Amino acid sequence: MSSQTQGYQISRVESTIVDLPIRRKHTTGAMAMEHQSSVILEIHTAEGLVGIGEATVPGGGPGWGGESVESMKQIIDHHLAPALLSTRFHGLNDAVSLAVSAFRGASFALAGIEMALHDLHGKRHDLSIAEMFGGLVHDRLPVLWSIGANVESLLTESLSYVEAGHRTIKFMLGSGDPPTEVRRVVEVIGHLPDDVVVTVDCNGRWDESTARQLLPPLAEAGVQVAEQPVPAWDLGACQRLRGLGSMKIMADESVQSVRDLMRVIQAASADLVAVKVPKFGGLSPARSAITLADVAGLGFWAGGTMESSVGTAAAAQLFGTYHEIAGCDLVGPLLMTADVVTESVRYVDGALVIPRGPGLGVDLDRDKVRHYARR
Ligand code: MN
Repeated sequence: MSSQTQGYQISRVESTIVDLPIRRKHTTGAMAMEHQSSVILEIHTAEGLVGIGEATVPGGGPGWGGESVESMKQIIDHHLAPALLSTRFHGLNDAVSLAVSAFRGASFALAGIEMALHDLHGKRHDLSIAEMFGGLVHDRLPVLWSIGANVESLLTESLSYVEAGHRTIKFMLGSGDPPTEVRRVVEVIGHLPDDVVVTVDCNGRWDESTARQLLPPLAEAGVQVAEQPVPAWDLGACQRLRGLGSMKIMADESVQSVRDLMRVIQAASADLVAVKVPKFGGLSPARSAITLADVAGLGFWAGGTMESSVGTAAAAQLFGTYHEIAGCDLVGPLLMTADVVTESVRYVDGALVIPRGPGLGVDLDRDKVRHYARR
């Protein structure tokens, strides 16, 4: 019998919180980031293979998704890792389902483990993540650049990224006085080339009447997408804002699970959905979300949560298997000034070059992991 049919035994799971420096402070409606933290994971097998993964929440704290690097590490060390050490596995599916049942509801922690199990599966079978999902249809993913509300000159930063090749600029709103923020953004848009797509993300911080007032002037200025203008729970308001017809409404915080996406579809409250691997609990449920969105006629935005090259590689390999992608947010490695892999993912002309396998197609640099590890 080959080693593949005999299955495998996990001998050790390592989790390390890393704090990675970022280019500049990044303020959104949900938080102000001074650095990005995540949990880097290594799953070792008795046969000597290692699967790597990354558990991420935006900013590393609980302000966005209700999990934090500290809570994820606890759940991984005390619940997910012991479950994975308890038995031999035939392959990917039985390992993932055991992890899913070991701790309900901690999607962001689970996503890191699920990613590492996919990397391990890829290494056992010499397949990339993309090949597991039918293969890439793109070599690169054009990515937006996301501009925090704290940036001194929105125009200078926008233009420098447009010059570097980014064709979509996203302005983060929701952290200041709404009319002032909107005036500032509208002024900048007038100075951008006409073919640049502009989106805004309010992180759910506006109420319906503010959005009703301020989305039309943003649309008139050329903004094409409003991401989560109102709170996650307010599907009715999103549905009514869609009715203004001024721009596309994208659900992000409203959709934290595939079931949430079903509710958004039933409420007709979005044109687009932000698919982020961590919030759904991994690559596999993210695929289900993309399938469901497609069936319901919603576009999907290939989202990110400011992952390092590890999480970015995994998500890019998944997203690169789809022809129709509304846009892509995988810019963590561009915001960070340090990484935890031997060779960071590359960006060329504003596009992320999708890594090839096996597995994620990136390798941990353990010296870097140690260097940025939280003490
Ligand atoms: Mn968002």
